[in-house]
Formats: sequence, C-alpha cells, structure tokens
Amino acid sequence: MNGKVYLVGAGPGDPELLTLKALNLLRRADAVLHDDLVSPKILSLAPQKALRYDVGKRCGQKSTRQEAIHFLMIELARQGLNVVRLKGGDPMIFGRAGEEIRALRQAGIEFEVVPGVTSALAAAAAAEISLTMRDTASSLLIMTGHFAPGNGRPLPDLRALIASGTTIALYMPGTDARETVDKLAAAGLPRQTPCALVARASTLTQQITITTLKKLEQENIKAKPAILIVGDVARLSQHDKLRVDNAFSGLVEGRASASVEPGGGTRLSTDFVSRNGATHA
Ligand code: SAH
Repeated sequence: MNGKVYLVGAGPGDPELLTLKALNLLRRADAVLHDDLVSPKILSLAPQKALRYDVGKRCGQKSTRQEAIHFLMIELARQGLNVVRLKGGDPMIFGRAGEEIRALRQAGIEFEVVPGVTSALAAAAAAEISLTMRDTASSLLIMTGHFAPGNGRPLPDLRALIASGTTIALYMPGTDARETVDKLAAAGLPRQTPCALVARASTLTQQITITTLKKLEQENIKAKPAILIVGDVARLSQHDKLRVDNAFSGLVEGRASASVEPGGGTRLSTDFVSRNGATHA
C-alpha cells in the first residue's frame, strides 16, 4: 500500500511556532524532505532513523530540481512510507506547494497540506506591527520581489493600493536594497513610504530595521532571509515609541534596529532624522 505525503509548514524558524500537527507528523515520519530554511532544531524532532533529504533551493546556487523532488516524494510514498515534505513558513506561500500537489495528484498519491506560520506574520510580530488597522490599513498584499525567470511580468501597480491603505508584505526582497526600492518606486510606491525590514524573524539572530524606502536604499542590509513590510502601519512599530520619545518635532524618518543576541539580550540601535514641516501620523 502507498504511504501518504504531508506538505507541512515548519513556520519561520522558532520551533515553538510549529503547529502541534506538524510536530506529531514529524515524530512519526519515515522520511523528511526539507528546504534550506528549516532549522536543524526542527529537523531533530523527526525520529533518528527517519530518512532525511535536503532538497533546498537557493537562488543562484546549486539546488535540487523541482522534478527530482516530485520523483523522490512519489517514490518514497510508493514504498509505503510516511513522507513529510517540510517547508519554511507556510507551504502555500511561495512554497511551490502548487507544483507538488499537481505531481502528487497525477501520481495518485494521497496527500495532505498542513499550514504553518508564514514569515510575514512572524516579521510583523517581531516588529510589533499590526498588518491591518481598523482605521488605516484594510488589506494586506503578499507579494514577491522576485519573479520566476522568464515570467517577465511586472510588479502590480502599487500606487493606488498603498494610497487605499494596503500593507505590503514583500517576500524575497533581494539583497540589493537600491534595486528593490527602484522596482517598488517604478511600480508606484512613494519613496517616503514607511517600511520595516525584518531579517531572520523569530530566530535568535533576528534583526529589525524601521525606516522608509528612501533610507532603505542607503542601507547595506545583507541579513537573510528577510521580509519587507511596506505601508503606514510600519510607523506604528514598537520602535516608533523611541522616535516619539526623541521629541523631534515633525519627525517622519527614523531607523531603529534591534537584534536578539545569542544570549537572549536585545541590541537596539537608533538613527533618527528630523524633517521640518512633515507631519507624523
Ligand atoms: N513559505 C515561506 C516563504 C518561502 S520564500 C513562508 O511562508 O514564509 C522565502 C522567503 O521567505 C525569504 O526570501 C524571505 O523573504 C522569507 N522568509 C522566510 N523565513 C523568514 C524569516 N525567518 N524571517 C524573515 N523572512 C523570512
């Protein structure tokens, strides 16, 4: 009899953000196929005798071809094994789950999708940014800064979206801040739009930078993986309090970054720029 494949979300990094269902499935897995983004701590929850395959894909680096992943998943299930296909965050958000589901359906293999905490939510929690706000932000756009090669589709028109109070969670923002901001500006985002860059959300090396698109260009932030939250709500993060406490009148731009040190302490640095005449919402 064929085994079953579970497409499981491992969450953003912190093992405590795994669902109980993910934990139970991992504990009785015969085989685990995992992405790069899944931490060793989470992988250690699978039985020692479970087969483990790192099928991670890293941009620009050698990676496992998608068809090879399909083949492996299907073959392991045909051997009657319980297969956990473990993905960072949630499998249905930029996780290629759609392609894997199609392959499993075609092969007649039973499967189930187990959701996970997607990284935009972990980033929002880390930066204390409510992605929706009753009075100012009524929608959330999840999008990628990186389109599949050959796809050629431009970014959607963001001007009207941001003006109507949409918060944008940009996955895979890229490592070149200037290029990212240029792309967003070309898609209609004003450069003074507030944003928060959250790298390695929910891990011990988490980094939070609250800034504006314009200032982000000047940053050299290489920490990965990172999510860029764009929109008015980014002003209201925990770091905003620091800005207010600085008592600059008319201050709109500021930067604060915090990183949790391995020992558990938080390092916080701030860099504020005063802009006369500007209003602070
Ligand atoms: N399925 C995943 C997304 C995979 S795409 C999810 O639901 O989260 C990979 C992108 O996810 C990265 O480029 C980055 O933008 C984001 N990401 C993953 N883990 C992250 C983390 N711990 N902190 C910030 N961003 C993260």
